[in-house]
Amino acid sequence: MNRDDDCDTAEIAVSIKDITYGYTSIPVLERIDLNVRKGEVIGLLGPNGSGKSTLLKIIAGLIRPSSGSIDFGNRRRGRSNKPVIGYMPQVESIDWDFPITVEEVVALGLWNRSGVMPWSSRYVRERVHKVLEDLGMSSKVKRQIRELSGGEQKRVFLARAIVHGPELMLLDEPTTGADPSTRDDILRILYELSREEGVTIILSTHDIRGVALNLPRVVCLNKRILADGDAKDILTQDNLLRIYGLIDSMSVV
Ligand code: ADP
Ligand code: MG
Repeated sequence: MNRDDDCDTAEIAVSIKDITYGYTSIPVLERIDLNVRKGEVIGLLGPNGSGKSTLLKIIAGLIRPSSGSIDFGNRRRGRSNKPVIGYMPQVESIDWDFPITVEEVVALGLWNRSGVMPWSSRYVRERVHKVLEDLGMSSKVKRQIRELSGGEQKRVFLARAIVHGPELMLLDEPTTGADPSTRDDILRILYELSREEGVTIILSTHDIRGVALNLPRVVCLNKRILADGDAKDILTQDNLLRIYGLIDSMSVV
């Protein structure tokens, strides 16, 4: 079960070729091959320590792989070969001893593009408020981030990853700790971005029923890619037992 063959005719957004990486001499990712089409929404599934966050960081360019390569296909926007990326790190809940409001956190997503203090332009302010409104956070724009619940913080960090109009979104457990209504709102917004704007989305999740089973494609990871395909085909009882470690060295691809 491998979707890579389907990518022959479609526009490729991310092409990962034979990537291996270890923080030490022991690899945490081994020989990863993955093609993602433009506008696809893909879930990365695997137990703790299986390499999901590491793979997302490698795609984001935050970690350089020990070997292998990543291509981002032919893109219209931007001159560099790298797409505009919206990255949402794995954050459970923030209790920063640091005063920063919701709107300021989201404006940080525009920092790199404008090159000036994000708050200095009206465009930035309007854009930030629009994204927060879409995420149901209009009433909280002036609140301190540390005063929000974990689910509300998820919405804010998603807003920060969306605000600059990315072509590729890399979301590390965007719904973990969120209640079902926040989770469904987040998924709805991601599907809209994919369908209406062709944004390519790769997210990691542990939520099999609430997230993974609704995705058109899941990639199961445990150091290597163990399965790749339609969620309903892949997430069978037998495969889940293999993927979550009981027969962990067995490939089901
Ligand atoms: P996942 O997101 O699937 O839980 P990670 O990618 O975070 O997995 O971690 C994969 C492996 O790499 C784990 O064994 C983890 O302990 C290790 N690891 C992650 N980050 C670091 C780091 N900064 N330094 C050393 N080892 C790390
Ligand atoms: Mg992780």
